[in-house]
Amino acid sequence: MKRIFNKKVIICLIIFILLIVLTLITFFNPFLFIKISGNKNIIVSVNEELKLPSVKAYIFNKDITKNIEESGKVDTTKIGEYKIKYTIKYLLTTKTVTMKVNVVDKELPEIKLIGNSEVIMCPNVEYIEEGYTALDNYDGDITDSVIINKSSDYIEYTAEDSSKNKTSIKRTLIRKDEEIPSITLYGNINNKVVLNSSFSDKGYSATDNCDGDISSNIEVINNVNINQLGTYEIIYKVKDSSGNETSVTRIVEVVEQSKSGFYTNIVEGPTYINGILIVNKNYSIPSNFGGTNSEATNALYELQNAASLAGFSMPLLSGYRSYYTQQYLYNSYVNTYGRESADTFSARPGHSEHQTGLAFDVGSIDDYYGDTPAGIWLKENAHYYGFIIRYPKGKEHITGYKYEPWHIRYLGVDVATDIYNKGVTLEEYLGL
Ligand SMILES: [Zn+2]
Repeated sequence: MKRIFNKKVIICLIIFILLIVLTLITFFNPFLFIKISGNKNIIVSVNEELKLPSVKAYIFNKDITKNIEESGKVDTTKIGEYKIKYTIKYLLTTKTVTMKVNVVDKELPEIKLIGNSEVIMCPNVEYIEEGYTALDNYDGDITDSVIINKSSDYIEYTAEDSSKNKTSIKRTLIRKDEEIPSITLYGNINNKVVLNSSFSDKGYSATDNCDGDISSNIEVINNVNINQLGTYEIIYKVKDSSGNETSVTRIVEVVEQSKSGFYTNIVEGPTYINGILIVNKNYSIPSNFGGTNSEATNALYELQNAASLAGFSMPLLSGYRSYYTQQYLYNSYVNTYGRESADTFSARPGHSEHQTGLAFDVGSIDDYYGDTPAGIWLKENAHYYGFIIRYPKGKEHITGYKYEPWHIRYLGVDVATDIYNKGVTLEEYLGL
């Protein structure tokens, strides 16, 4: 009885165990599996080819890979985390393996500069942006998000893409000014001035590539001694803010009247250039030439009337002078002052404009007449009546005469106005 019982129990037990094994195999079959040869977590760069490890399925060592069901798709053109599910079924057993694919962007954006990456520029000048572009493999044009960091020595451009990849580049600003300023001298560089006359500087200016107009910084070293024969230099020096220095020189030769070129190679006239009669130290007129000139005299009356209306008395001091009157005058000056000196203010006979009847001395024979209200009025209005101030200040080397604010020459309104506007002497106007 005990044995039978034992036998039954054993059979039941075996059946029971078989049932359990059958159930396990049906629902949780351990001989069914998916094998991935490689990493289940894959990282791939955007737009790159995705290489997945091989996936195989087995049941009782039999390859049933073809039965694998695959779900999930990876778009390698889009950043993100993707899942691919591999499912294999056998009887009532289902096994699943999931692979993770991360599509990432690890590429840095690229910044391109318009203009040079090294710019040489003046100190203390702000750099004017020439432009730049930022392109990212994934985000495209990200120029607008570029961050700019400025210093006096560089401009730093930083671009960051949506995956936090950051690029920085620098534009180097080389601050230096090695260019010297430039000085411009107005008037002649080489000047000949008659002894004991005057030399007036026509002016100067200086510009610098970095500092602009630095005329006021010009230092002038002027040792001209008008009362002593010799060759003198006027030196103009200027330095820019970076210490670049330059200098230019004007030459002033103080010469004797006789060596100035005046009264040499005399052209015996009367000489008319463009219809204008020229009488000076190099152009003479014969002793019988000249006389009073009614047109010039009438113009003088108009000038005097206008001066009077403006409140100035402008008396005629000397008009037409004959050759012989001039000869007498000149000789008496030579006797008193010597020939050298007399030549600076008195014409030799045959060389005086007064002999033409076209020249007048008005107002006052006074070196400072040109600074008086009447003298200023004359200077500014004479051309309206056809006259010019014949021997202006600073033109002694051209006219051969000291400044004579009282001596006017009739030329007619058109020519006088033209000469006035050009600010030249009659000699310069006629190209002599
Ligand atoms: Zn005169």
